[in-house]
Amino acid sequence: APIAAPAGPRTVRAARGTELTAKSWQTEAPLRMLMNNLDPEVAERPEDLIVYGGTGKAARNWESFDAIVRTLEGLESDETLLVQSGKPVGVFRTHEWAPRVLIANSNLVGDWATWPEFRKLEQQGLTMYGQMTAGSWIYIGTQGILQGTYETFGAIARASFDGTLAGTLTLTGGCGGMGGAQPLAVTMNGGAVLIVDVDETRLARRVEHGYLDEYTTDLEAAITRVTAAKAAGEALSVGVVGNAALIFGDLLLRHRAGELQVDIVTDQTSAHDPLAYLPVGVAFEDWRAEAERDPEGFTDRARGSMAKQVAAMVGFQDAGAEVFDYGNSIRREAELGGYDRAFEFPGFVPAYIRPLFAEGKGPFRWAALSGDPADIAATDRAILELFPDDEHLRRWITQAGEKVHFEGLPARICWLGYQERHLAGLKFNEMVASGELSAPVAIGRDHLDSGSVASPYRETESMADGSDAIADWPLLNALLNTASGATWVSIHHGGGVGIGRSIHAGQVIVADGTELAAEKIARVLVNDPGTGVMRHVDAGYDRAVEVARERGLRVPMLEA
Ligand code: NAD
Repeated sequence: APIAAPAGPRTVRAARGTELTAKSWQTEAPLRMLMNNLDPEVAERPEDLIVYGGTGKAARNWESFDAIVRTLEGLESDETLLVQSGKPVGVFRTHEWAPRVLIANSNLVGDWATWPEFRKLEQQGLTMYGQMTAGSWIYIGTQGILQGTYETFGAIARASFDGTLAGTLTLTGGCGGMGGAQPLAVTMNGGAVLIVDVDETRLARRVEHGYLDEYTTDLEAAITRVTAAKAAGEALSVGVVGNAALIFGDLLLRHRAGELQVDIVTDQTSAHDPLAYLPVGVAFEDWRAEAERDPEGFTDRARGSMAKQVAAMVGFQDAGAEVFDYGNSIRREAELGGYDRAFEFPGFVPAYIRPLFAEGKGPFRWAALSGDPADIAATDRAILELFPDDEHLRRWITQAGEKVHFEGLPARICWLGYQERHLAGLKFNEMVASGELSAPVAIGRDHLDSGSVASPYRETESMADGSDAIADWPLLNALLNTASGATWVSIHHGGGVGIGRSIHAGQVIVADGTELAAEKIARVLVNDPGTGVMRHVDAGYDRAVEVARERGLRVPMLEA
């Protein structure tokens, strides 16, 4: 008789090498990627099945995890497993072009889509929070946020500074889990950056991990270092311990007085949660106790300080700097704090990312199922050969190869667009077939992509036609990926902005070196970014119309 698997927490790590546990690579891949999401090197709280992003989970509970594993191990190549918010709920006979796994996470009917309702249902064991890539098994650790941040600063460089940030100074706040990618992303684009955080341990940790060059508690010393780097056109990141609400205001006065010149201003303190933002006048040591003692009063004080910080940011914009909100809701919180000009600077998606989305560009990524870093090095070389003229891509791939430490299975992310991604996918598939790669590769993306998300506070903020909240697009994206041969497809609600605020979809396709995989890749990796171009054509973006015409995307309303 089979021995029952333990139902409680345990250490999970994906298998490496070429020996299969499942019946084919098409089911081995989701199995390894599920386990990889829960690898202690990758997951924030693996014992609770939490991968990242607050409570984003890979499976509902350990019983569900075991049942998913058991089912994938025995799944045939004409069967499909259905997963409902982290629990395996059915296996159906399909065909070999169909996905092996279909996933729906955290979805609620409109009027019920609130945090209190979600939490109640979660407590009853009926749902789980899937985030974007936690419950869809394609999270690759902090490399993902680093590249997204690199891409944003790269877009700013191209839009406003002749393609490089060399000779510029960026001011930002918040050097935490995600915000800590900012200093490295700026220096990878050639710039100088000053980053403010109230918590010295956070700055020390980023220095230790190579994300920040140096930090100090002395503002004057920090200013001297970054202004010298800017003048010399050198890449340098300096952290300073302090409260962003005060330091931003102080630097604005110096900027106005001509003592220094700040070119770019943003912020990634945890402003979305006012208890996680330290107000001016509260000592760092008293933070937790004060927030617990009087959450309402603390919220008011935090919002008051955010109003000060955002007022300084608007002041920098008035004085000619490039200013944007980096997806942490600081504008809305400052508005609640009584500052009425908060929305005068844009969010980062409408400001810099949307032109990329209009070309179907987004966070394309792949993982080496072999576990061998040499496989990723080989794919890096292949990418450079495929796109020799893309200088920005070259800089990312080269520096990522040197600076990114893999967490879990070796993986790579790079933003590629419509009629580009499939070239990479087909090349990788050939490399698997020829033995140049030692095992197959799982190719997917974040849900934060050009055609796969409806999220009015982030990815679809200020769409040209006002279609910010229309959620048909991610559903069409998921259906099309299913129809095109993806290996697993997911539809989620909530993601990075919370319940009630977004609907998004994902896909992963496995390059196992077969002819069939090549056929599927040629469809999925064209169609998936194609929905991004389609969505932006429909919303009236000229660049998307051009891309559709140049690269042969059929949009019936353009054919009249
Ligand atoms: P985190 O909690 O790990 O880090 C926040 C940091 O802000 C902490 O180090 C804290 O000490 C610091 N901080 C708090 N108050 C401060 C103040 N007054 N002055 C200076 N520093 C202060 O959070 P994180 O994971 O880094 O995420 C930061 C924010 O960015 C969140 O709001 C998150 O939702 C948002 N975010 C946006 C995107 C995106 O859209 N690009 C991606 C990820 C995260």
